Amino acid sequence: MSRVSEHNASVATVGDLWHDFVARAIALCRTVAGCDLAGLPLYVLLQSEVADVMGAENFSDGYTTPNLDLNLRSVIGEAWQGRGPCMVVNDVSITDEHFLEDVDVVAMSTVLHELAHILDRPTPVDLQSLPSQERIEFETMVISNASRHEHRPLPTPYFGHEEQFIRIAVHLQFRAALVGVATIPNLLCAGRRYGLSHAHRYMEAIGDEPADMLHLPLAEITRTSPPEPFTHLWLSDISKYAESCPQILNGVLS
Ligand SMILES: [Zn+2]
Repeated sequence: MSRVSEHNASVATVGDLWHDFVARAIALCRTVAGCDLAGLPLYVLLQSEVADVMGAENFSDGYTTPNLDLNLRSVIGEAWQGRGPCMVVNDVSITDEHFLEDVDVVAMSTVLHELAHILDRPTPVDLQSLPSQERIEFETMVISNASRHEHRPLPTPYFGHEEQFIRIAVHLQFRAALVGVATIPNLLCAGRRYGLSHAHRYMEAIGDEPADMLHLPLAEITRTSPPEPFTHLWLSDISKYAESCPQILNGVLS
């Protein structure tokens, strides 16, 4: 049995919850996206580990950026195995803001959300470009500053979490459930905080695609067109959002 499904949710302390979290998170990612991550190291770091570089004040449950492995190279230290996708999971805020019983499911949902961002890129990590040290330091400054703000209103809430992201997240959720890892669909994708329908509506609209494409890399899946009801739901959502916020449309058009 995969180690990702061995976790016992009835643990007693926060320490118990986090001590093997990174290993279980990496195992889950490799289970649900093994083909896409093949040959690449994957770095999953906790906020408590990266606070010295990124700052202790951080309001996001998790984040990933294209060069995060380089931004956090000093934290990765001896574990460095070359360039690979990287995410930070905020063990501090997730522990503070949730009941002990819910911490693991929120944290694993965060892992799949960040993995969906990684797989939504043209490649999980761009091995062709090697940014300069100055560029990396600048990015580190921007990321640490951005994560310090509790409310970062976007002009449109679903930016960065669009149709392809939702499709990837729904596939990841389906694959995780098959190995016994529960997640909270609306933490993975869609839902009210993005100004979209509930994630369950997208799970219904995608139909049998996650089962039919279970063994395909996400990169291959996203080269195909999604099922028509899925695209219809997305177009209907963004059209409803535009109708409810005419000032945004006017702003774009003017
Ligand atoms: Zn996100």
